[in-house]
Amino acid sequence: MKNQDKGIHHISIIAGDPQVNIDFYVKVLGLRMVLKTVNQDDPSTYHLFYANGEGRPGSSITFFPWPMAVQSKPGTGQVGAISFSVPKGSQEYWIDRFSEKDVPFGTPIVRFENNVLPFKDPDGLKLELVEESPADTTSVWKECPVSEEHAISGFWGSTLRLTQTESTRNILQNVMEYELAEEVENLTLLQTSAALGHSIILEKEKHAVKGKNGRGTVHHIAFRANDEKDLREMREQVTDMGLSPTEIIDRHVFKSVYFQTPDGVLFEIATDGPGYASVAENKNDMGKSLFLPPWLEPKREMIEKRLQPVKVD
Ligand code: ZN
Repeated sequence: MKNQDKGIHHISIIAGDPQVNIDFYVKVLGLRMVLKTVNQDDPSTYHLFYANGEGRPGSSITFFPWPMAVQSKPGTGQVGAISFSVPKGSQEYWIDRFSEKDVPFGTPIVRFENNVLPFKDPDGLKLELVEESPADTTSVWKECPVSEEHAISGFWGSTLRLTQTESTRNILQNVMEYELAEEVENLTLLQTSAALGHSIILEKEKHAVKGKNGRGTVHHIAFRANDEKDLREMREQVTDMGLSPTEIIDRHVFKSVYFQTPDGVLFEIATDGPGYASVAENKNDMGKSLFLPPWLEPKREMIEKRLQPVKVD
């Protein structure tokens, strides 16, 4: 029995202009902004979180926008593509939508028997829509500008481009509870039975390609822990594999640890709770006002003055 409570938690990316980022993820893709906060390492810039209507684990894509960030170049030892789940039969709708909104998209492919539509965000980040049946549409954002029957419900999964896959596969199978589903040529599909974020494809490359970090680079990928006790146990397992996870960090909407995999990707493990609604007045207000961690709250006025004003609606 595959685990329903394990899978991707969130994925975080370096972006360029914050307003361009908001316009694309909210107005074109129809995701909901569930948290607007600052980059804790540079509070003069944002950390923006988008997700489905409920802000469920397995649906949130987050960005560190730096208007001055250089264009990235993709490489190995990185997350190569991020895949969203859409209901079966949605591809035509999205092709029309992307054509209308000038979103660059590629030729649809069939991979592991799924219809896949590749496309890119304004920073060149590689994204995909994967048709799924049945799709979990229970958490679709009701105010979403996309027709509800075709809307994104969260992540299908992600592709990691690696020259060596063994240690990453070990971590995903032994700590994150993914199971081997299928192997075709240089692609290995690992899955859990979570409704969202259940699939990881390991794409084995013959030669290392040195990428360049900048806008469009995935900073890290986070996997789910049920609660703090589970997080502590998963952290122990990572340590036992000879890796060096950070201490547990309180991110207020979840607790997490980070570690570098031997194959080069930065992994995080994050607790399901307390979630994005926990720092909002109520669930309807998720992402509406700027959230600051308590240690930055005394500097709110200065921080708000330095941030580039953005508009979500
Ligand atoms: Zn994270």
